[in-house]
Formats: sequence, C-alpha cells, structure tokens
Amino acid sequence: MRTGKRIVARIDPRFSPFLLLVRRSPIDRYGIFAGETIPRNRRVIEYTGERITYRTANGRFRRILRSGRPRRFYFFVLNKRWVIDGSAGGTGAELVNHSCEPNLVRRRIAGHIYYYSRKRVRSGEELSVDYRFSKDTIRCKCRCGAPKCRGTINLK
Ligand SMILES: [Zn+2]
Repeated sequence: MRTGKRIVARIDPRFSPFLLLVRRSPIDRYGIFAGETIPRNRRVIEYTGERITYRTANGRFRRILRSGRPRRFYFFVLNKRWVIDGSAGGTGAELVNHSCEPNLVRRRIAGHIYYYSRKRVRSGEELSVDYRFSKDTIRCKCRCGAPKCRGTINLK
C-alpha cells in the first residue's frame, strides 16, 4: 500500500456508509480508496449513472473508439436491454478500478447495482472489482498486479 498520495476528493456520504476517497491509483489514473476499515459482506456503494439502451451504449462506445481519445468507458451492462453509463450521474463507483483479485463484488438487486465487500478492506486499501468484460468485446490489457492476474480484463 502506498501512502502520502494526494487526496483528490471524497465520495458524497449519501452514496456510501463508509468514508471513501478518490486518489491517484497505481492501477490506473484515479481509484477509490477506503478511508476506514470496511467489514466483510457490507454494501459499500451503489453504481449509478444514466440508464440507456444497449443500442445507445453501443453507439457511444463506437464514438469513443473513433475519437482517438483515451479509451475510458463507464458502461455497466444491467441486462440485455439496459446499460448504465456511469460517466453521467455516477456516484463515484465508476472510478473503482478492475482487479483480477478484487475486494468488492457486484450484486444486482431489483434493477440496481451495488458493490459489496467480499472481504475485510483495511483503511488505505484501494477498492477493486472484477469488470468481467465479455471475451467477445474489445480486449483490454490488465495491469492490476494481482498474483493471479489474467492479463486481460476480459473473461477467458
Ligand atoms: Zn489483472
């Protein structure tokens, strides 16, 4: 764990019962860090954003790919019809980085997506979740650094 990283922001406490901080991440740009200990199996934050159709998401996805800008997507596939685009109206959960050995797990409950702790998270630890990108979509290299890293964010 690195210390002394500049704290950029804190997540609005309405979105999480825990103190969560936005900081520079060794995984990618910015990440979310626990500002206090989070016990196992607790709801940490809801993933929110603009609810769009799969088709609209596809259009945005292609536009980002064509734009030549850094490829940053905050799409969360809710089901076959709906996608949540966390780049608009996100709680900050969209900044949680991917890890092949994450400390959070996502759960879909009644049309909502929540991140739960799958183990005890110590204060100062970066929060992470397995993005589980489809193997049929664009391949993304993984730099999570976990001992059991798959080498890709996509499922094999
Ligand atoms: Zn990895």
